[in-house]
Amino acid sequence: MKLVEVKNVKKYFPVQKGFIDQILSRKQTYVRAVDDVSFYVKKGEVLGLAGESGSGKTTMGRLCVRLIAPTEGQILFDGKDIAPLKGEELRLMKRRFQFTFQDPTSSLNPRLSIGEAVGDALKLQGIGDKDEQAFRSREVLERVGLSPAESFYDRLPHQLSGGQKQRVVFGRAIILNPEFVVTDEPVAMVDVSIKAQILELMMDLKKELDLTYLFISHDLATSRYVCDHIAIMYLGRIIEIADRDQIYEDPLHPYSQGLMSAIPIPDPKAQKAAAIPQGEIPSPIDPPSGCRFHPRCPKAFDRCPKEDPELKNAGNGRVVACHLY
Ligand code: SF4
Repeated sequence: MKLVEVKNVKKYFPVQKGFIDQILSRKQTYVRAVDDVSFYVKKGEVLGLAGESGSGKTTMGRLCVRLIAPTEGQILFDGKDIAPLKGEELRLMKRRFQFTFQDPTSSLNPRLSIGEAVGDALKLQGIGDKDEQAFRSREVLERVGLSPAESFYDRLPHQLSGGQKQRVVFGRAIILNPEFVVTDEPVAMVDVSIKAQILELMMDLKKELDLTYLFISHDLATSRYVCDHIAIMYLGRIIEIADRDQIYEDPLHPYSQGLMSAIPIPDPKAQKAAAIPQGEIPSPIDPPSGCRFHPRCPKAFDRCPKEDPELKNAGNGRVVACHLY
């Protein structure tokens, strides 16, 4: 069953016009952060969203839980389009999905105790009185491994380690018993030594609470351990979606091939030459014509700058946007 389905979603951010542009009334330009993206996440699965920074994956994640509204398109949650929701209807719907931010330090209010930070969502949603909120907050602290809860409840964020702060972030995400959680680079800011513990916590919570995840990460080595399927984004578009083993063992799109070949492996002698395409990711204000990847693609041919490849079925449940398929 599809829990989340994104259909032809676009998110364009207007670019602030300079003084001269305003005087000359030049046309408004937009950053096309997400540009006609469609995919779905089945209930109970983990979909990884990968790509270089600037590919639009964080914007896509924020759209999925309506932290921001799309410019166009539908975002179906359990069959209901949440794209046009506003006010009270959106606030109530937000109990069902959560977002964890990449940097736990900046996502926690430095003046709010850990217990208050975790219980804050209950307060915002008007669930329970003060005592009930504190009780539930203690339960959740225990659940995310901050035990005994009593010794953490009154601490401030700066008194915790990076890994403990990330546990608080997960506690805050699960306190409303959501069904869907978008995690943005959940282990990017923690020590390598505790990365595995955070991922283990994430997967334990998934099992216990029957969660569905959208796992945003540029780190494909990590995504391999937690994701069922992987979607690769490039310059605001999805260019390939496949199940985990397919995409790691046999990526189809030249960009996916470059990303996979650059994953570090334990034996440096066996490391294939990294084929990450040279050059910068082009500007999302004025993306290249045809296939957006063509200026960096080692396999580009004459059709590529002229025609935009659609995301097409490539067999075995995988889809790819490339004229080679
Ligand atoms: Fe490369 Fe052309 Fe495929 Fe784009 S469509 S990825 S440029 S081969």
